[in-house]
Parts: sequence; structure tokens; C-alpha cells
Amino acid sequence: MPSSRLAPLIAVLVVLAAGAAGAASASPAAAQEKVLNVYSARHYQTDEKLYADFTSQTGIRVNRIEGKEDELLERIKNEGAYSPADVLVTVDAARLGQADALGLFAPVRSKVLEQRIPANLRTDTWFAFSTRARVIVYRKGSVSPDDVRDYEDLAHPKLKGKVCVRSGSHPYNLSLGSALISHLGEAKTEEWARGFVANFARAPKGGDTDQIRAVAAGECQVALANTYYVARLMRSEKAEDKEVVGRIGVVWPNQRNRGTHVNVSGAGVLKAAPHREAAVKFLEYLASDSAQAHFADGNNEWPVVRTATVRNPALESLGKFTADGLNVGTLSRNTALAQKIFDRAGWR
Ligand code: FE
Repeated sequence: MPSSRLAPLIAVLVVLAAGAAGAASASPAAAQEKVLNVYSARHYQTDEKLYADFTSQTGIRVNRIEGKEDELLERIKNEGAYSPADVLVTVDAARLGQADALGLFAPVRSKVLEQRIPANLRTDTWFAFSTRARVIVYRKGSVSPDDVRDYEDLAHPKLKGKVCVRSGSHPYNLSLGSALISHLGEAKTEEWARGFVANFARAPKGGDTDQIRAVAAGECQVALANTYYVARLMRSEKAEDKEVVGRIGVVWPNQRNRGTHVNVSGAGVLKAAPHREAAVKFLEYLASDSAQAHFADGNNEWPVVRTATVRNPALESLGKFTADGLNVGTLSRNTALAQKIFDRAGWR
């Protein structure tokens, strides 16, 4: 039979199959396979393809609910046992750790995730799917990169009045603070924070990109920023952004010792997930080579899976670095203490 005559027959069969699946959806097993509710704090165009590919591979439709990181956490908390959320995708170990501390995540045991995600980039409940580094940005000609080799250097009196940074309450800084607590201890971290605050050129304001622009403009000479903000400026076609990039240098901190502090984007399965099986499948899918490439590159980040590759000229021109191997779960655990220390040090 020619395929053109088969088409109507197939259409009828598809409709019948859909009807059967619909009738069966009252049983939990069938419901589990058909749909997945993802609460996502990521809004990148490449994510569209990511979700579409998952649906075509598994037949599971993805309902995506987008929101700001903290709002999504609040929403899931308020929805409680009746939350339709299956998976939470968000950025920063501090936030993922916070979700975990609120008891929102359910443990996941998966051979695929254990094999593909390095041990330091996963916990029992949530998993990192891409990494970003927190780097030191300096004004070329105003500061020597040799003076800002380590995060510790940022507290040196030599940099008095030269440092710009966003709020000490922001998760990116709290995660860095948490890493410092792990490596240096509480007392040394507080000493560092006091020295750092004493070097501020201005009261903390704005996001990481604002700090980079302030360095380029000469309002300050040194700042902290996540790599994807630097990469974003490097990939920009705007003349003003090109000018900014031309004025700054980037240092991978702590290469002579423990490595540069890295943070993550990640996800976990929620305790009240109505479609748990599909949710685990989705996490495993995110760890596949092709999904990893989309997930990481969508925000100029690095994949966590070693076999996954991304060709991103901006990241490549930043070069290679040694990352701090601290476990992301450990990283998220000290953020409350980091906040106390930063408060005491006057880092608003
Ligand atoms: Fe960010």
C-alpha cells in the first residue's frame, strides 16, 4: 500500500490510541508517563529546544512554569503537599541548598546521574547540570593581575577604595563566602570580609554586569563577577560593550592553591511531585551529552558531564582553569553563616 493511503489509517489509529491513553490516565502509572511540570528560574531561548527534545524522545509533555528564583521557592513552599511541581530548575548552590533545607526535594537514586555527574557536583537530593565560575575582573593598567591572584588578595589594604561588588546578601556572594568558610574557617573568613569591605569604592549596588561596567569606567578597579556575565559582554555586538571588554582583564582566582570558586545551575525532584518517574527521567535526560550542551551554552556556562562539549568562543577565549572541587552540598550548607559574617563585617 502506498504511504499516502496509509496516512489516514495512521491518523485514525493515533486518535484511538490517544483516546485509550486518556481513558487510562485515571490510573497513576499512565498519568506519570504523560506530563511533567517543571518550575524553572531559567529563561533562555535554548531551553525551548531542550524541552522539545525531551518530549520527542519520551512522549512526555513538559509544562513549564517560569518565575524568579526566590518566588518559585516561595510558591512551592506555599503549595505544599498539593504542589503540581515535579522538578525545580534554578541557579546557585545557595538557592538549591535552601530548597533542600526547606525539605522540598525528594532523594533520587539514579545510576545514570551517579555515573555522569561528578561526585562533587551532586547531592542525594539535587544535581548540578552546569557550572559558572566567580572571577576577579580588574581594570587593565590600573591594577596588576599579580595583586589579585586569590580571593584573599581582595582584602589587602593595597586595594583600598578600589573594589566594587554587589550586595553581600546575594546568593552568588553567599556561596563564595560559604566556600571561604569551608577552606579558611569562620574567623579567617570574617577577617577577610572586614578587609574586603574596607576596600569598597562605593556601597554595594547593582548586579555583576554593573560592577564590570564600573571597573571599565574607572569608578573602581577590581570587581567580582560570574563568568557568564563576562562572556555575555564578550559576545555582545554593541560598541559600548566592546569598549568595556577592552578595558578589563579577568583573573581565575586561587589557581596556585585550591582552585576558583564555581557555582552551578541545577535541579531536583520535588517531594510532592505528582509525576516522579517522569521527573527522574527528565534529570537523566539533562545529563545526556546533547542536553548538556544546550543547558550549559544557553547561559554561557560549562557542562558538568565530561563527555559533553560546547563550542563557545567567549568561554574558550577566557581559557582553562582549575575549579575548586568542594561539594555543592557543602557549599550550600554554610550560606546562613556566611550571611551572618557579612552582616557583622558591614557588607550590605
Ligand atoms: Fe546571574
